[in-house]
Amino acid sequence: MSTTFCETCRKEVTFSSETASIKAKLKGQEYIFTGKKAICIECGNEVYAADITDENLKSLYNAYRRNK
Ligand SMILES: [Zn+2]
Repeated sequence: MSTTFCETCRKEVTFSSETASIKAKLKGQEYIFTGKKAICIECGNEVYAADITDENLKSLYNAYRRNK
């Protein structure tokens, strides 16, 4: 299991990932795609996880390519 820092818990926590509808901007246009978000398993808040951000970026670029 991966861990990340939770700003609410103020410590390293284990997170789970769940599917989420994500809105992001690329080259001035907004895209909505199915990505993931990391959730702290202790407090339930969204946390930052590099792996998940990477995956979301890939999904964003896929949405961008499909749109062209
Ligand atoms: Zn937390």
